[in-house]
Amino acid sequence: MSYFTHLECSRCTETYDPDVPQNLCTNCGKPLFARYALDRIAQSWDKCSLSDREPSMWRYAELLPVMDTQHIVSLNESMTPLLPAQRLAAFLGLEALWVKDESRLPTGSFKARGLAMAVSKAKELGLTKLAIPSAGNAATALSSYAAQAGMEAYIFMPKDVPPFNRTTCQLTGANVTLIDGLITDAGKIVAERKEAEGWFDVSTLKEPYRVEGKKTMGLEIAEQFNWELPDVIIYPTGGGTGIVGMWKAFQELETIGWIGGKRPRMVSVQAAGCAPIVRAWQSGATEAEPWVNAHTSAAGLRVPQAVGDFLILEAIYQSGGAAIAITDDEIREAMTTLGAHEGILACLEGAATVAGLRKLVAAGEIQPEDRVVLFNTGGYQA
Ligand SMILES: *Cc1c(COP(=O)(O)O)cnc(C)c1O
Ligand SMILES: [Zn+2]
Repeated sequence: MSYFTHLECSRCTETYDPDVPQNLCTNCGKPLFARYALDRIAQSWDKCSLSDREPSMWRYAELLPVMDTQHIVSLNESMTPLLPAQRLAAFLGLEALWVKDESRLPTGSFKARGLAMAVSKAKELGLTKLAIPSAGNAATALSSYAAQAGMEAYIFMPKDVPPFNRTTCQLTGANVTLIDGLITDAGKIVAERKEAEGWFDVSTLKEPYRVEGKKTMGLEIAEQFNWELPDVIIYPTGGGTGIVGMWKAFQELETIGWIGGKRPRMVSVQAAGCAPIVRAWQSGATEAEPWVNAHTSAAGLRVPQAVGDFLILEAIYQSGGAAIAITDDEIREAMTTLGAHEGILACLEGAATVAGLRKLVAAGEIQPEDRVVLFNTGGYQA
């Protein structure tokens, strides 16, 4: 049973009615967060109850925004494994390393978590036409979940997205528009046209529930580590929904008393050709300037500007984390490093975390005894 109560602005704390579709805060333009009756959850939900539940992201129903489970739109979002990476750890001089392997999720990437949640909530709210600007994988995920729900999906993405994303959107019957530009340009088109067309905009963090889906990565990690979080989490960051979601998960888990105050250091990895968060972190800024001429073959990292920039940076600063940029050549080398040591076939974005880890170990920022988790956010694509 969900204990979802209301939406609240992540910046100015203005509250919003959860029974109507909402986008950004109308007061300050920042993302809205789902809030829960955490005090009541603390009293009534025992973590032992998890052992009887199905191993999927929906097992955390109390902390999820879907009120009636009949509205869940699912392609089977199984919990993803935390693969021990012992040979890679030894190669890098670490004692304990894991890869959270998100490549097994439906639609080929962890975007499934966010879009399964957003489409389920859209169904609960009676929406039928969903529009999305995407760098690639979010489009594939929305198309698939919209098809499963019998809804219409309107996709806007760069014309040079990976062919996998173009093909999968067509196979699942979405309305696809390829644009000459980046995800931010696609976002402008959706914003301009959505009212006249009657579309609901499910842009990441401009819609409050995708982050709740990605929050389940943090809930799963906490459970898989038996409620003792690791020391470092390394995450390939585009829009930052995953890092923001995990950070929110940890705060909620602490408030309900399931974990203590210790947090992993949150590390954002970005591509050298598009690293707005890294640049902001290096200069100690709390917001990121848009990146001009963004380019990288890691499509999920080609996000020149994120509405949740201040939330990503907050998680990095509060956790004592870091942000690091990796070249495309380093990413390709890291794919082989991960493949050859662990047999894990990573996406470019996932491989970037291996390259980031390598640099942070070399710089002495990560110590041999640190327990580290890398995120492989999607499957290998030829
Ligand atoms: C979208 C995406 C990312 C970036 O995720 P955010 O949560 O938006 O930062 C990383 N890897 C892959 C494979 C993606 O599709
Ligand atoms: Zn606000």
